[in-house]
Amino acid sequence: MIFDFENHKIEVRIENSVRAKYVRLKIDRKNKCAVLVVPRRVKTEKAIEFAQSKIYWIYSQISKIPEDFKYCEGAEISFLGQKYTLHLCGDLYSLPKIEENILFIPGKIEFARVHVLEALKRLVKPYIVQKIQDFCQELGVTFSRVRLTETKSRWGSCSSKKVISICWRLGFADPACLDYVIAHEVAHLKELNHSVKFWKIVGQIYPNYLLSEKKLKGLSKEVFRF
Ligand SMILES: [Zn+2]
Repeated sequence: MIFDFENHKIEVRIENSVRAKYVRLKIDRKNKCAVLVVPRRVKTEKAIEFAQSKIYWIYSQISKIPEDFKYCEGAEISFLGQKYTLHLCGDLYSLPKIEENILFIPGKIEFARVHVLEALKRLVKPYIVQKIQDFCQELGVTFSRVRLTETKSRWGSCSSKKVISICWRLGFADPACLDYVIAHEVAHLKELNHSVKFWKIVGQIYPNYLLSEKKLKGLSKEVFRF
């Protein structure tokens, strides 16, 4: 059903549940609507009244969901602190490429997303490797391999085999976030824990880490909208 809130149409889907004990509201992020869970013993009208009373909360939750990025001619993407403009070059068989600040996308628009992500991933890899090398040199440590990952719940990791994994999508955020995550994982090459000693090492190679740590909070919505 559709609720009206200050000229905004808000969709609330009703879900009857045998298992639920209480009326509950949840947000369906993908479809940008709310779901009202109605237990068997509760009358639907009562549940709707409840949803109505929470309409401001529903509205504020839904309006916080970031829009997915629209891949089209002329669209702009910020990556590693640089602005890139998408250009659909119409060439069917070439690879996506970046020249100056233009991202040339071959083929059909339906594949633009895949091509853009591929080009940006190729762009960020040497950046990450270089940063790892620089921090390693500062600490006098070595690493064995770099893996680019795409895990929503984890920005980076460092294994006992000295493999450093970094979520490459951090390139969509403030570069300070990516630099900090790299410094953090390199520091683990010396201390594979989060002890006081570890944070001292982080501070040594990345003094502003507290600020970056703050910036990472809630960032996944932003970098995963592409
Ligand atoms: Zn850590």
